[in-house]
Amino acid sequence: MKLLLANPRCYCAGVDRAIQIVELALKQFGAPVYVRKEIVHNRHVVGWLRDRGAVFVDELGEVPEGALVVFSAHGVGPSVNQEAERRALRVIDATCPLVSKVHAEVERFVDEGYHILLIGHAGHEEVEGTMGHSPDHTTLIENVDHARTTPIPEHHKLMVLTQTTLSMDDTQHVVDALRDRFAADGYLFVKTLMPKDVISALRR
Ligand code: SF4
Repeated sequence: MKLLLANPRCYCAGVDRAIQIVELALKQFGAPVYVRKEIVHNRHVVGWLRDRGAVFVDELGEVPEGALVVFSAHGVGPSVNQEAERRALRVIDATCPLVSKVHAEVERFVDEGYHILLIGHAGHEEVEGTMGHSPDHTTLIENVDHARTTPIPEHHKLMVLTQTTLSMDDTQHVVDALRDRFAADGYLFVKTLMPKDVISALRR
């Protein structure tokens, strides 16, 4: 008998943590607990939370002033925090600590004079949150074609970061295309901070 094992595709630790945070908030504070964006792309889990009093919204404008809102694991940009503050919302930030680390890296590298090339999908909430930390110094690279052709501001230091939810294999193809493109322009890839995730390039 031949047994085929499917590659597991369940939700990750960051999303699992965010779901538990919503459950705890419901227990501690009672319904309704507003949740910005679907906490997980799984209608059974979303339905289960909804039945217990979670209210999923796309934007903070849908949350009544002063209400309790949970930010999803995929994180938010500073403008979302500012809007929450303006509207006196009570915020529980369930951003995955690894996503927060990427946000901190965007700010640190921009401060150090890098332009960020962010590999990710346009419209994904994590990408919106990450780009929101430095929109003027970040260029989104969606795929291998983009990596080859997207105009990138003249800059002598580039940093490649990735959306955390991408498959390593797909991401590696995009990183390879960037490496080929910039090697031809005289850039030297100098370090990898996390395997295949963060690569910085400096012009020779
Ligand atoms: S970094 Fe992203 S993919 Fe990884 S655990 Fe956190 S939310 Fe999930």
